[in-house]
Amino acid sequence: MNMRSSEAQRIEERLGRIRQILQSRNYKLTPQREATVRVLLENEEDHLSAEDVYLLVKEKAPEIGLATVYRTLELLTDLKIVHKMNFGDGVTRYDIRSEDAEHHHHHLVCLHCGKVDEIMEDLLGEVEKRVEREWGFTILDHRLTFHGICHRCRDKVNPEDYK
Ligand SMILES: [Zn+2]
Ligand SMILES: [Zn+2]
Ligand SMILES: [Zn+2]
Repeated sequence: MNMRSSEAQRIEERLGRIRQILQSRNYKLTPQREATVRVLLENEEDHLSAEDVYLLVKEKAPEIGLATVYRTLELLTDLKIVHKMNFGDGVTRYDIRSEDAEHHHHHLVCLHCGKVDEIMEDLLGEVEKRVEREWGFTILDHRLTFHGICHRCRDKVNPEDYK
């Protein structure tokens, strides 16, 4: 199978489902909103800031303004289509939700190169059961970010220097 076309098809399908979510809440997927959603879907593994999204959307829709992109990102956050993330550098980043996962994926933040890798598998099952049982707490979601040195940087740096 042609990877590129199956990836394009996957994006179209997700876009269709996001259009339905918006419509069910009486919002239209305007061309500008669509361009913003496409950028998020095409860069799903990245954690883009509003400015990053804006620069990429501008390539598709040159007339778009930062304020429009920003409002769209806020709307998508309200509709829980994206999550706002902060990895400690003071920049708000937008992470599109995985459709099939019940809870938010985990993040590995490299303190040397700044890359953010994702763990899509929910590793917290046992922890969640324990929290629910011992604290009587119903878990709806969670954020888990590990800070350390990534596999790309491991041989280049001394982790002690980053403690
Ligand atoms: Zn993520
Ligand atoms: Zn979980
Ligand atoms: Zn690294």
